[in-house]
Amino acid sequence: MPEKTLFQRIADREIPSDMLYEDELCIVIRDINPKAPTHFLVIPRDPISTLDDLTEEDGPLVGHLLLVAKKVAAEEGLSGGYRAVFNCGPDAFQTVPHIHLHVLGGRKLGWPPG
Ligand code: AMP
Repeated sequence: MPEKTLFQRIADREIPSDMLYEDELCIVIRDINPKAPTHFLVIPRDPISTLDDLTEEDGPLVGHLLLVAKKVAAEEGLSGGYRAVFNCGPDAFQTVPHIHLHVLGGRKLGWPPG
């Protein structure tokens, strides 16, 4: 068995987190180092490393992650809008090699990002 990723260990409750939602396909946790007043991560249980590793078969899973992001954003009161972003690879500063959708809101977000 390959070593578990950080986010698998969080999903398996080996590492504590502030978990907002979970289902059979994904978990949602608050980011430990938030970049906005509200910042949570939507993480598939399947430890796909980066967006570049997705296949056609993952299409429904990615759609599910976006729908969960929308649902939790509403529950978190992000009625003024929010940003949902996957960092992919070193140029985007992806630090955890297990895909995760960042959802940020609660303030005006600059564009373009740095
Ligand atoms: P990225 O840089 O796109 O790979 O994002 C990884 C994110 O995971 C960062 O925003 C980190 O703050 C966050 N993170 C790292 N460790 C934890 C943890 N134990 N619990 C919650 N979020 C974490």
